[in-house]
Amino acid sequence: MAGSNVSHRIGLGYDIHRLEPGEGLMLAGVLVPCPYRALAHSDGDVVLHALCDALLGAVAAGDLGEHFPDSDAAHRGRPSREFLALVLALEPFSGWKILNCDVNIIAQAPRLSEHKAAMRIQLSQLLGVPLDCVGLKARSNEGCDAVGEKRAIQAQAVVLLEARHRNRTTSTLSRRRRISLEHDSGTLRLAPTVPRERSRAKRKAPDGER
Ligand code: MG
Repeated sequence: MAGSNVSHRIGLGYDIHRLEPGEGLMLAGVLVPCPYRALAHSDGDVVLHALCDALLGAVAAGDLGEHFPDSDAAHRGRPSREFLALVLALEPFSGWKILNCDVNIIAQAPRLSEHKAAMRIQLSQLLGVPLDCVGLKARSNEGCDAVGEKRAIQAQAVVLLEARHRNRTTSTLSRRRRISLEHDSGTLRLAPTVPRERSRAKRKAPDGER
């Protein structure tokens, strides 16, 4: 696992899609009935696309476009939940677990308040995290820009990952109780905090080590 001494990673994702007349938007894996659709190569789920980029960013594994280019006909109309599942199956995630995520959806239309609960549940299931670890907010763009004019929809996502080895490391540190950095012949190394004379006596180093 890259960055094995790091206990947590954070990732940030963003996506935007144009809106056009249609029969519904896929958001966070939930079909929201409305007179719009997202102009996209896939199902145009801005939430899952932003989430995928946040996850990829957290483990420095590129972005969604690198893994699933829109030039590839195989991804045409593809459900974005499949992208998310494939991202989570990438090797860089083997050493990490998701602690929580937080999402913003910025849309002047449709109104999303009655769909937020279903979207949180869906994200909880797709990510395999408890419901209270999934934040999701929806807001308008106060009439500004393309989003405010109902010509586009945006999403932002943040994820926090924890290294899977963390509990074992914590346990090891707990047994040692205290760890101090000891300077030894110009090299910094980890050593348990025990009386200095006792520590020296237990060592079987040759005479003249120091
Ligand atoms: Mg997208």
